[in-house]
Amino acid sequence: MRNETPRAEAVPVNTRRFRHASAHAPALLKPILDEAVRGFIEASPGRLFDLADQYGSPLNIVWPQMLKQNVQAFRKVLQAHQVRHAIYYGAKVNKSQALVRAAVEAGIGVDVSSIHEMHDALRAGAKMSDLCATGPAKTSEFHAELMAGAALISVDSAEELTDLIESAATMAPPVRPRLLLRYRPDASEASRFGMGRDDILSCLRQLARMRDRFAFEGFHFHLSGYAADSRAQAMRELLPLVDAARSLDLRPRIIDIGGGMPVCYVEGNDYDAFLQSQSREHYRNGKLPESFYPYGSRLDAAAWLDGLLTSPCMENETVAAWLNANDLILALEPGRSLVDQAAVSVFRVTRIKRLAGGRHVIFVEGSSFSACETWFVSEFLVDPILVSAAGEDDAKHAMPTQAYIAGHSCLDDDVITNRLLAFARKPRAGDLLVYANTAGYQMDLLENEFHRHPMPRRIAVTVDASGRQQISPDD
Ligand SMILES: *Cc1c(COP(=O)(O)O)cnc(C)c1O
Repeated sequence: MRNETPRAEAVPVNTRRFRHASAHAPALLKPILDEAVRGFIEASPGRLFDLADQYGSPLNIVWPQMLKQNVQAFRKVLQAHQVRHAIYYGAKVNKSQALVRAAVEAGIGVDVSSIHEMHDALRAGAKMSDLCATGPAKTSEFHAELMAGAALISVDSAEELTDLIESAATMAPPVRPRLLLRYRPDASEASRFGMGRDDILSCLRQLARMRDRFAFEGFHFHLSGYAADSRAQAMRELLPLVDAARSLDLRPRIIDIGGGMPVCYVEGNDYDAFLQSQSREHYRNGKLPESFYPYGSRLDAAAWLDGLLTSPCMENETVAAWLNANDLILALEPGRSLVDQAAVSVFRVTRIKRLAGGRHVIFVEGSSFSACETWFVSEFLVDPILVSAAGEDDAKHAMPTQAYIAGHSCLDDDVITNRLLAFARKPRAGDLLVYANTAGYQMDLLENEFHRHPMPRRIAVTVDASGRQQISPDD
């Protein structure tokens, strides 16, 4: 049954077949690794071969404990500023149920944007009232369940509010749905998400007339991009709307700033140097992608949040001071930043083939659907760790090689990277490529059974009471 915690097995430690295995960090775009993850990869790399044998390739290895650590880092900042807060895990970031369970165990809520995410959160033990539902296209079935369970609903449009009003009218009292209104900041004028001022005001007037039937709880926004400044600006734009709500005798309690907190994948200086030096010749298709996620962020999510809370909001008043003076709860919906360091993806090399110009292509068991950046015409600018079956001393393979990585399908665009990666030693069939920090939208967003390859497996690494690592299936 999927609603039980899967049975855990001890992680294999001694492996005879792969006792010479060795891990080789890339020279460029070296992943920042949490010590627990580093230990798992470097301390006994042979074990990765056993796991890939057992579960297949690609294999996603998840550390649910990381999510709890990331929650703690957010809480520390929020507590330092004495800001009342509510954190919701943006569950769309990863399909892992172990991560949803970790969020529930950490005592935070879950941001769900489909009825399926909602059901998974409930299975993980979340209460309906700890859920926040976002997204512009909620179905009437989803609405009905959210209203019945008193989940927080972020209303994306005047049309959605009309639907909620009609649907609530058919429900038996004492249902009093809890609503946020999603604001569309000025900087995102062309966005299809949220409402401009006029629509917000008209929704507020409607809700003021229906205050016995709906609980208006506050405002929500979620911005693309990763700058804390843009959130502080959106917050300033909300000030008059908070006042407008109060003048209608409504009582906003929550300002929900959505997600988008940054993650540091590689060192900032390495990242900048890489961006400066790269050119179209470094790409198999001769095309330099136009944009990348800012993998070399200097700020982690906690530092970012600290920066936001200390930004000016009103004259002489920081965001934190304004929230506190107005008795407002700051809600956050981090997705990517809560799963920072929470997974790696392991691909087994099938073959390496020489191409014209001395380049190579590495074919792996797995596809770009399990490492999806190239489908967004971009690149995951974190290089994989090569784990060789052969030992360090196997000198004849210490041959520098330039190669891009291709998936096992017959689509020309099925490449895990268009970029030619520099390997200090030539990967061989059977070696593993380990991509670090893939839990945030990388590993399973597009995964499928193309060519009838089975779905990639996911396993969770947990630590039991005696400190021993355990593995359990997480799919
Ligand atoms: C996707 C999403 C999030 C999570 O964003 P991250 O960038 O992963 O932190 C939060 N809120 C809403 C409304 C979203 O659509």
